[in-house]
Amino acid sequence: MPIELGSTMVFDTLAAFEAARDARYDSGTMYYGRYGNAATFQLEQMLAKLEQADGVTLTSSGVAAITLTLMSFARPGSHLLVADHVYGNTRAFCDGLLTRMGVEIEYFDPMAGADVVALIRETTCAVMFEAPGSGTFEMPDIPTIAQAAQAAGVPSVLDSTWATPIFCQPLTLGADVVVASMSKYLSGHSDGMMGMIASTAEHAQTIRKTVMGVGDKTGGQEVFLALRGLRTLKMRMEHF
Ligand SMILES: *Cc1c(COP(=O)(O)O)cnc(C)c1O
Repeated sequence: MPIELGSTMVFDTLAAFEAARDARYDSGTMYYGRYGNAATFQLEQMLAKLEQADGVTLTSSGVAAITLTLMSFARPGSHLLVADHVYGNTRAFCDGLLTRMGVEIEYFDPMAGADVVALIRETTCAVMFEAPGSGTFEMPDIPTIAQAAQAAGVPSVLDSTWATPIFCQPLTLGADVVVASMSKYLSGHSDGMMGMIASTAEHAQTIRKTVMGVGDKTGGQEVFLALRGLRTLKMRMEHF
């Protein structure tokens, strides 16, 4: 797949334009550059297969993947459970912008396992954690935490940047959303910045609408580099 560039697309008929506009949040619909092109859709499909996800949306960075996912679920007055070992910028976003917008942040011990059940409230909007955790690298019990959230009807969000889908596919363990920085192992060459959000069908459109609603998007060169890097992911991860 070559580097795909372009903003405006030309339609042969008004009907074709309107059909594309109405389906613009579906991966694979060519409508306007910000919603994706042939290369971004190919990358989304590759990641969906690796993560066993129903939907994948690319973001401009790993941080954008995290913040836009949390913004898709958080509401003023809601309560957000965040594992104490999360990436520094995740914490900064929770303590900064989300707190300012009236979201109550509660940090929990990532090794709490089934004890997370007792922390979930009626107002809990999501459970955010990492496996393994940034810096300290402890490995939380993904199925137990994800099932506790699911039983309460609360989406669980897992930052899987370090494990990559080669070592862990959180959606198969009950998580609802996987976020990752593609700037690290997924692209693998330290020459591109990007993030991704993979989820079940239930949350895919909500998240995609948030990402596209704020105008976040990936660049053609970055997508090209990620498509190239992803091809050696398995070999690179096994070598580490
Ligand atoms: C690097 C990293 C991020 C942020 O990704 P960027 O692409 O640098 O924005 C998020 N989570 C974890 C665990 C990371 O290591």
